[in-house]
Amino acid sequence: MTLQKKDAVEVFAAGEKGRGLRTTKEMQAGEVVFTEASFAAVVFDSLYLQVCHNCFRRQANPHRCAQCKFAYYCDRTCQRAAWDEHKLECAAIRQQGRAPSENVRLAARTLWRMQRHTSKVSDGQLTTLDLLEDHISDMAPEDLKELQVDVQKFLEYWPRKSKQFGVEYISHIFGVIKCNGFTVSDQKGLQAVGVGIFPNLCLVNHDCWPNCTVILNHGNQTALDAALHSQRRIELRALGNIAEGEELTVSYVDFLNVSKDRQQLLKQQYYFHCKCEHCSKGIKDDLMMAVKEKDGKKPSAELVKEVTDFSVQKLAKIEEARTAGNFHEVIKICHECLEKQEPVLADTHLYLLRVLRIASEVLSYLQIFQEAAEYARRMMEGYRKLYHPNNAQLGMATMRAGVIHWHAGLIEAGHGMICKAYAILMITHGPHHPMTKDLESMRTQTEMELRLFKENEHVYHSMREAVLSSKPIGGGKVQ
Ligand SMILES: [Zn+2]
Ligand SMILES: [Zn+2]
Ligand SMILES: [Zn+2]
Repeated sequence: MTLQKKDAVEVFAAGEKGRGLRTTKEMQAGEVVFTEASFAAVVFDSLYLQVCHNCFRRQANPHRCAQCKFAYYCDRTCQRAAWDEHKLECAAIRQQGRAPSENVRLAARTLWRMQRHTSKVSDGQLTTLDLLEDHISDMAPEDLKELQVDVQKFLEYWPRKSKQFGVEYISHIFGVIKCNGFTVSDQKGLQAVGVGIFPNLCLVNHDCWPNCTVILNHGNQTALDAALHSQRRIELRALGNIAEGEELTVSYVDFLNVSKDRQQLLKQQYYFHCKCEHCSKGIKDDLMMAVKEKDGKKPSAELVKEVTDFSVQKLAKIEEARTAGNFHEVIKICHECLEKQEPVLADTHLYLLRVLRIASEVLSYLQIFQEAAEYARRMMEGYRKLYHPNNAQLGMATMRAGVIHWHAGLIEAGHGMICKAYAILMITHGPHHPMTKDLESMRTQTEMELRLFKENEHVYHSMREAVLSSKPIGGGKVQ
């Protein structure tokens, strides 16, 4: 599905941001502004063996394309559904004897799609790829070099029989992919598995405090009939009420960075200087760097510097230990950090929140749920003061914290968090998303357990022990 006539959006000139998208009618929180199928998408190089090249689900025993031996699918249904998109790619991979990198594969899929349909695919598409920004003139020399290598690899891969494009146009496509490529996640939105191009979405400008969020919803892939398989598609959803004529925005970066860091990230990756209200006024920067006041007295500047420098250094060590799988070392450094941070940094300080997040994740992985729950609770208190109340990341973090509390036997708090997460995801993900459905069943389950707990605490705990000894509740959801 691409943009339909009924979709209430239009393209407009958004000043120095270039083109933008705005509404033509009032929208409510949770409303789907538009949905869009990918113009083209590919699975990451690192996951090509594990993720279905059609529906982007993870598969334990995928079915391999017998011809190119590169593409993998859930089953023959997915393979059939993907054939149109894969046919020319399959021949090109066989010809070359191996598959090129994800960028080259995406550029090729994009150009084959254009060859099949011209670049504007349907009435619902508001822009052609030709009109999208490539930012080649803004690129740093090393980015430009990478792009030229990709173009070279593309030329080696692109079949003679396919329509021929000039180097300049091919470079444009790579530029578009670099600054507009959208990360595609698996069915539940938990892991990034590929990258795709969604032209209408490219028209939605960035704001660090946006009025919309974008979510992948692959729809029903279990249908046996390939024709019923919906394509990889995104939904743009309103986070709050949006007035008629208001510009639609999404955030390209996580809000939990101070404005100058967000601006730097955006400059590096997307080549623009963010002048959104939150960046220009530095809104919430003070909270993200706040120090603890005791009896109206703040810690000295030297002490704050010492603790923040210490935190930066230790966070790098934590990352190292985590990558190495040395989880007990991670916990040890987290404890060290928290001990230093607690008397000095406020509960909304980003460095404190980062340590709390890692500590709660790793402890719950190690099944030390009581302590994990304590850190998760404190982290959520900070998050709630910083994030927009309907931020998708806040929703996901609330869900994880709820599950940790549930595992720790803190059923009342756990149920409360799961309900809160559910309310957020109803807006950011909608009622049909697999994650919302998971939350719905968790909500029912914890509600039942909570009732039992209130009736008879003893029975509740013995039931829980029985359940835990057979299998962990909601196992695997936390990590
Ligand atoms: Zn599949
Ligand atoms: Zn193949
Ligand atoms: Zn901004």
